[in-house]
Amino acid sequence: MPLFHPAPCARPAAARAASRFSGAVVAASGAGGARPPKAPPRRPRGKPRFSRQSAIKKSFQQEQVVFSTPVPADPTVAIIGGGASGLACASALAARGVRAVVFDTGMHGLGGRMATRMVDDGRRLVFDHAAQFFTASDQRFQKLVDEWVDKGLAREWRGSIGELEAGGHFTAIPSSTPRYIGVRGMRPLADAMLPEVYQNDLIKVVRPSWISKLEPFNGLWRLFESEKPQGQYDAVVIAHNGKCANRLLSTSGLPQLTRQMKRLELSSIWALLAAFDDPLPIPQDNTYGTFEGAFVRDIDSLSWMANNTQKLFPLETNRPECWTFFSTASYGKKNKVPQENIPNATAEKVKRDMLGGVELALGLSTGSLQRPFYTRVQLWGAALPMNTPGVPCIFDPQGRAGICGDWLTGSSIEAAVLSGMSLGDHVADYFASGGERPEEFAIGLDDSLNLVEGHDIGQFPGLDPQKPQVAEPQLAPSI
Ligand SMILES: Cc1cc2nc3c(=O)[nH]c(=O)nc-3n(C[C@H](O)[C@H](O)[C@H](O)COP(=O)(O)OP(=O)(O)OC[C@H]3O[C@@H](n4cnc5c(N)ncnc54)[C@H](O)[C@@H]3O)c2cc1C
Repeated sequence: MPLFHPAPCARPAAARAASRFSGAVVAASGAGGARPPKAPPRRPRGKPRFSRQSAIKKSFQQEQVVFSTPVPADPTVAIIGGGASGLACASALAARGVRAVVFDTGMHGLGGRMATRMVDDGRRLVFDHAAQFFTASDQRFQKLVDEWVDKGLAREWRGSIGELEAGGHFTAIPSSTPRYIGVRGMRPLADAMLPEVYQNDLIKVVRPSWISKLEPFNGLWRLFESEKPQGQYDAVVIAHNGKCANRLLSTSGLPQLTRQMKRLELSSIWALLAAFDDPLPIPQDNTYGTFEGAFVRDIDSLSWMANNTQKLFPLETNRPECWTFFSTASYGKKNKVPQENIPNATAEKVKRDMLGGVELALGLSTGSLQRPFYTRVQLWGAALPMNTPGVPCIFDPQGRAGICGDWLTGSSIEAAVLSGMSLGDHVADYFASGGERPEEFAIGLDDSLNLVEGHDIGQFPGLDPQKPQVAEPQLAPSI
């Protein structure tokens, strides 16, 4: 049973060592068009260069980079993160004729948290192991979904989903809007977000690549993967969040972006992928039959369970049942460990707790659940945003840098896509303006963050009409 799971942003040791000193490198290297952050004061010999405390302090004391070079006629934007938001941003830029290079850590493909795991265990096992399904409430996102559907990559999920209470009490949730899934899982949808017509000349993807440092130099942003240069760009987009983004921004010369990113709080969620030879004993609903997905109520170790086999291969019989189980955010918080190095004992405990949760949810006696023949335990350490500024994107025109991602308005694929589209358009507008009125293009730099409503695994506008879902995005300059 594999119990070690590299984090999406897990870094090689060399990179870790290098980035510890990146503050000094940034401070020394700015020249020409960008005013660099001040050089750090000299330290007495023998003292450690960085404690955790001093690194955080430093991030708030960064001096703002101000680009004074003219905006070029043919700019190129670096996008760090190839999840839904980064890909939508690249696509929006390309549609406006602006070149983008997308860097992503993904070993198996693009998509970030739109992840699908394929396992060849003699039999082919398929699991969506983050995003499960989505709804569309905004026309721009609906247009993209329609394209996926037309290409045969997405379809409506008509299987029954609802709420499951301990003891096997299931209540179907009616939906006022279609629910969608990827026909072969979520990841292929991410690949399809880069239109082929643009791909060759206007969009380039570099993967797997972990950007460990960005620094202003001669009016451009220089990117590095460990110590390896990864090019120079006219603007930079941070299309990821959490620890990786905080680390990257902490010495960048972008104090306003750093501050906003640091305000973001993220939940942690455990995922258990399990394959069973025989169907699980799912309670029958008179109207809806057996469910394919359920939000689990009042069981700490379980917030969601879904049958990928029924969802993805409804017409195929004799396939093993591949289930995705998610813990609650509160269980994730209580049992958090470094996601790139999960101790065996923790993985075993989590598996036990979650399978115990399944028994409880289905109303089975303890120990009676059939043994899965395949399991994989994974921690999404930075799973879902718990607060949001409610702005579509963040852009610092002085530093020619922006942020997009789900957390800007909510916690869903839709929120991520809309944020990426908004930032792509915004950056294209900024370049089109010639950069002469930078103050008009500042957005989201000061907004405070408010609680995100929704389920532990995100928001589904139209699914649960009682709850407000996505914060209304307003594309208005913040100063
Ligand atoms: C357990 C779970 C269940 C979910 N269920 C649903 C659901 O059912 N429906 C729904 O709509 N949403 C769901 N979501 C949320 C949804 O998956 C996200 O909102 C959305 O995919 C976020 O996209 P993003 O582009 O903002 O970020 P991400 O998808 O996280 O993309 C960021 C990318 O940047 C990469 N990256 C990070 N650091 C670097 C670096 N230094 N250099 C290069 N690349 C880097 C990462 O590897 C990643 O690929 C779920 C999320 C989780 C965790």
